[in-house]
Amino acid sequence: MYTYKQFGNSFVVSINNHAEVGQAVAAFAKEHGIKAGTVQGIGAVKEAVLRFFDPATKEYVDKTFAEQMEISNLTGNISQKDGEPYIHLHITLGRSDYSTISGHLLSAVIHGAGELSIEKFEGETGRYFDEETGLNLYKF
Ligand code: FE
Repeated sequence: MYTYKQFGNSFVVSINNHAEVGQAVAAFAKEHGIKAGTVQGIGAVKEAVLRFFDPATKEYVDKTFAEQMEISNLTGNISQKDGEPYIHLHITLGRSDYSTISGHLLSAVIHGAGELSIEKFEGETGRYFDEETGLNLYKF
């Protein structure tokens, strides 16, 4: 699903063509015992599902974009929820007309390169479901 090179607590990760970004980051976090960390990246995708959280309904509205797009920016974090890696990613995608779309990333399929930097923090950041916001917030 990926190849990588380690530099201390930092990793350069290349996600395989046609692999899904969130799954790859979660698998990487699990393999390396990353329970707190940051993710950043660039690359290209052929499909992405973005979601917009509506605070009024406390629900996400999902939208699929099935086209070739550049990952202008991928940024996010790694934490733990219920003993599993919890990957929170946001993405900015560049379309063929050079306009951009962006949002909370549900899934994205690499088409071309998927070049990430992942930093591992020692320790753990947990999450809990917050009733007031309807979100899985950090719990320290
Ligand atoms: Fe988000």
